Amino acid sequence: MTSEKTADHSTGADAQKQKLPKISFEFFPPKTEEMERSLWDSITRLAPLHPNFVSVTYGAGGSTRERTHATIARILKETDLVPAAHLTCVNASRADIDDVVARYHDVGVRHIVALRGDPMTGIGTPYCAHPDGYQTSAELVGNIRKNYPDVEVTVSAYPEKHPESTNFDADIDVLKAKVDAGATRAITQVFFDNDLYFRYLDRVRARGIEIPILPGIMPMHNFKQARGFVTRAGTTVPDWLAEKFDGLDDDQETRKLVAATVAAGQVQKLFKHGVENFHFYTMNRADLVFAISHLLGIRPNGAQKAA
Ligand code: FAD
Repeated sequence: MTSEKTADHSTGADAQKQKLPKISFEFFPPKTEEMERSLWDSITRLAPLHPNFVSVTYGAGGSTRERTHATIARILKETDLVPAAHLTCVNASRADIDDVVARYHDVGVRHIVALRGDPMTGIGTPYCAHPDGYQTSAELVGNIRKNYPDVEVTVSAYPEKHPESTNFDADIDVLKAKVDAGATRAITQVFFDNDLYFRYLDRVRARGIEIPILPGIMPMHNFKQARGFVTRAGTTVPDWLAEKFDGLDDDQETRKLVAATVAAGQVQKLFKHGVENFHFYTMNRADLVFAISHLLGIRPNGAQKAA
């Protein structure tokens, strides 16, 4: 197993000592006014950490098309953050999707997270592309890059392979197709065992894929709820992790402390092994990711400290 640094053929250990990791944050578009306020409290708290970019998800089946757009547009208007808009191919024709991309480009978005998306009939059921739609995520990536060479495209990656995939080779074939189509970065599905990530990186690098593969880190604010969700998406929740939340169902405060400690430990170990970029699934909450970023040495407005 190699570290990310070895695999990337980048700088040595000395350089890393002075380097701080780069971070990015994922949010989801709010449904209600109250959720909107809480999202913006989080954005306001996290913005001074100067993330590389902040991404906003696209609801299942395109259900948040307008809300994702509104959130991205507000980020562009009211902050200095660089927004990345998620977009899926589900339930939409090519023309519809091209229209969404054009609208993003018009308001100044230069970063799209391009995805196939989950079947309308739910995770675990067969995926059927829209008859007039993009048939694969690679096709979507290629089209965005062709029409808008100034738009960066990020894609997904699966350290435990995607649940629909028969094996790792087939899974990495899809990643390779997306990179060949012009993707310049991937973000992983959430994982809790760092060895899975490093093994996956070895496989990916062995296939000659050199783009950064950002680990997707999810602090488990609400373990019970998040466990169901991530398991359905194909992430293994190890027993040791479940045991850490044992008996805390009614103790939100302790759960928060445990969630921050676990995620901070995971991130610090990855960093020690040369990982330089981290993508946090914030669940629209700032407190835990702010604390974890602090432990990595990241301070508001550049008052940084090497970790
Ligand atoms: P792809 O990149 O096209 O494929 C991923 C893997 O699925 C492939 O490597 C392959 O192994 C397998 N696969 C794909 N198609 C087939 C097939 N026909 N047969 C067999 N195997 C196949 N979902 C949303 O709805 N909105 C979001 O905003 C969103 N954001 C995400 C962000 C990240 C970083 C990640 C990791 C996932 C996100 N998802 C989101 C979930 C994603 O839509 C699902 O995981 C979906 O099932 C696959 O989409 P994809 O773009 O990863 O697929």
